Amino acid sequence: MLQITESQVRLGLSATDKAEAIRTAGRAMVDAGLIEPGYIDSMLGREAITSTYLGNGIAIPHGLPQARDLVRRTGVVVVQFPGGVDWGGEPARLVVGIAAKSDEHIAVLQRLTGVLGNPAEAARLGTTTDPRAVMAVLNGDATAPAVDAAAPLAGPSIAVTAPSPHGLHARPATALVEVAKRFRSQIAVRHGGGTSNAKSLVSLLRLGVSGGQPLTITAAGDDAEAALAAIRAAFEAGLDEPTVSETPPPPPPARAAPPTDLDYDGRVIAGISASPGVATGTAWKFQREELTVDETAPDPAVQHRRLDQALAGAAADLRNLHEEFWKKAGAAKAAIFKAHLELLDDPEMAADAHARIDDGKSAGWAWRAVYEERANTLAQLTDALLAGRAADLRDVGRRVLRLLADATESVAALPDHPVILLAEDLEPSDTAKLDPAMVLGLCTAGGGATSHTAIIARSLDIPAVVAAGPSLLDLENGREVIINGDDGVLVAGPSQRDRTRAATARVAVARRREAEHLERYKPAITTDGRRVEVAANLSDPEAAVKAVEAGAEGVGLMRTEFLFLQRDFPPGEEEQLEAYRIMVRAMNGLPIILRTLDIGGDKNVPYLRLPAEENPFLGVRGIRLCFEREDLFRTQLRAMLRASAEGPVRIMYPMIATPAELAKAKAITEEERRALGVAPVEIGIMVEVPSAVMMADRLAQEVSFFSIGTNDLTQYVLAMDRLHPVLAPQADGLHPAVLRMIERTVAGAKAAGVWVGACGGIAGDPAGAVLLAGLGLTELSVAIPSVPSVKARLRGISMAEAERTARDALTCADAAEVRALVRDRFPGGAA
Ligand code: PEP
Ligand code: MG
Repeated sequence: MLQITESQVRLGLSATDKAEAIRTAGRAMVDAGLIEPGYIDSMLGREAITSTYLGNGIAIPHGLPQARDLVRRTGVVVVQFPGGVDWGGEPARLVVGIAAKSDEHIAVLQRLTGVLGNPAEAARLGTTTDPRAVMAVLNGDATAPAVDAAAPLAGPSIAVTAPSPHGLHARPATALVEVAKRFRSQIAVRHGGGTSNAKSLVSLLRLGVSGGQPLTITAAGDDAEAALAAIRAAFEAGLDEPTVSETPPPPPPARAAPPTDLDYDGRVIAGISASPGVATGTAWKFQREELTVDETAPDPAVQHRRLDQALAGAAADLRNLHEEFWKKAGAAKAAIFKAHLELLDDPEMAADAHARIDDGKSAGWAWRAVYEERANTLAQLTDALLAGRAADLRDVGRRVLRLLADATESVAALPDHPVILLAEDLEPSDTAKLDPAMVLGLCTAGGGATSHTAIIARSLDIPAVVAAGPSLLDLENGREVIINGDDGVLVAGPSQRDRTRAATARVAVARRREAEHLERYKPAITTDGRRVEVAANLSDPEAAVKAVEAGAEGVGLMRTEFLFLQRDFPPGEEEQLEAYRIMVRAMNGLPIILRTLDIGGDKNVPYLRLPAEENPFLGVRGIRLCFEREDLFRTQLRAMLRASAEGPVRIMYPMIATPAELAKAKAITEEERRALGVAPVEIGIMVEVPSAVMMADRLAQEVSFFSIGTNDLTQYVLAMDRLHPVLAPQADGLHPAVLRMIERTVAGAKAAGVWVGACGGIAGDPAGAVLLAGLGLTELSVAIPSVPSVKARLRGISMAEAERTARDALTCADAAEVRALVRDRFPGGAA
């Protein structure tokens, strides 16, 4: 077992910043013969990607896996900075540099996690002048306080009352655990006939205490009185329950939702409308993997170590997630991960699992049995809020199990019967696999109206709601739910009245769609005789047939990056050529815009092994990535150019931000074209970056067309991440700031005689279609199911009125005002 010696502990040092602290730890590791000096760069590299701060003043810098060859032997050093070093906003006092060839260092880490649960101990080690104190803890010589909640405690008690209105649910229980863990004493909570350990969240939740119920708290140990005083104060302060003014504001109104009365009897979970329509069905939670574990394992020592290692790994993940969400979405949204961390940091659960390992079970089997048993008990509690914590416990349990599983099926299980699919979020590749026959509706906790989940849901014509928040995942599988994609809500446990309303809404939508479908081949000519082409957005070549069948007059955007997903290597030139040919043939003379790869942002392609980005939407994405990976770009261009010999193929570059980028992309295209000896093709760009708008007049001189990517343009103009769980609902492409950008783009294009279309989400939105036409766009490219409705919408309006409305919209204050204006002038619009 790994032991540290006195020479591996350096006390009383100082460093001006994190990098210097890491270098100091690295040099100590070199001196101890653990690593080659080059490993230090890798430690700094890891830190640039993710913080190794564990908590309570402890950080554990270590290198990236690629640098493993620079490890001479597994070991750790401890470098103490009593004055603290700023580690991303937290002061680190104990910096444990890890050189890991095998997993022997895990035992040391495990002891560290023991210290982590004890701030007083962490503070002592962070300032001690005695290296043996550090060695005693890390070498396992110091004895940890034992916890035995089952034994009756002899000690002083206090009587308290559970906070109202929800009782001892996850947040107040977490607060109580946090207070209890600050003390060495054993602390028991008695309620009714049950007793629980105040340092175990699951054990507290199992007591099932409702608001206003009495509790007796007993402490036994040398700091028992202080512990009880702190606990009493915590109860008096409400155990972290938000006061009315702290309650997070309700989510902003759904993006595209017209005003409706959301008067349902069932529990309403509000999100953002992502794809229209109404569906009723049973909830089915999407899980990305199937985890299998063997029941028994021969060597308990190995299994004990694996369990500790997995618990520490899952805790580190949760800490990172908490930090990430805290930065992205604020404390309220991040709180769920803190509660999960507390569920995980439960001495009773770990002890129970270890006991089962001693009985011959494997770590995975033991752990799964422990969390499933507890989750089942919680699920049976009569208090719905407490019962809802079962889902959290299973979530946390699976996080650990993933690290222990003998086999993980990487293929996500998809429903084999029609369901309403609920998910935390979906990767574009997950969504692409959905079978509309099995997915009646879709609701995600995260995402935004312009996320790819929403885009695909629209293209599959599945009613969808996104950004519904984490409480969505508390719903159990099999529960009856209604999803209303127009109103942006999911209704759990609907009443008969709710079901009847949903059925009526479904019938009305079906009738309207039937009428639109019958007229789908008629062109979209406004009442005053102006024509707007309506094309389709595609991400799958086979869907071209459906686009024609839906009345599309071309393909306005083929998202070719979808050809690169769900596989282990990029498609070659011949394979791509075949895909593009399928489309050319299906479109039978209608124009097709093939967009070159737009990888990056939220579209990750794991096998390309692209470096992680701090800000993926502002990083090497789209055309920038094509320049980094010119091999992929040239292969794709050759396939597109060869396909152009068979039909009207146009090539479009995504994410063009500067004229220089356009010039470079065109030069590469031209080189390939000449080499192939094919005729020139029309070249266009996506206008989706504000700089392209500002340079539109210049860019227009170099292209045949513009297609405005309103999804990205909106996020970049409003500086709101299109996937941001809090901001995405406000990132409405009908904001006057975005409309003004579009106006400016059209002006720049007009001067050069270039036509402008749009292929972002608002082109398919009833209000968006009117305004874009009014702003002078002559092509709208929308999800296939929206083609007939957008055509019908345009046929029903006068262009003069659309232009007047668009002009007025430019002077509105916000998107809501714009939407109200369009509703006033063009009542009854639904798409
Ligand atoms: C857009 O940004 O509006 C667009 C159509 O491209 P994507 O959604 O694929 O980024
Ligand atoms: Mg885009």
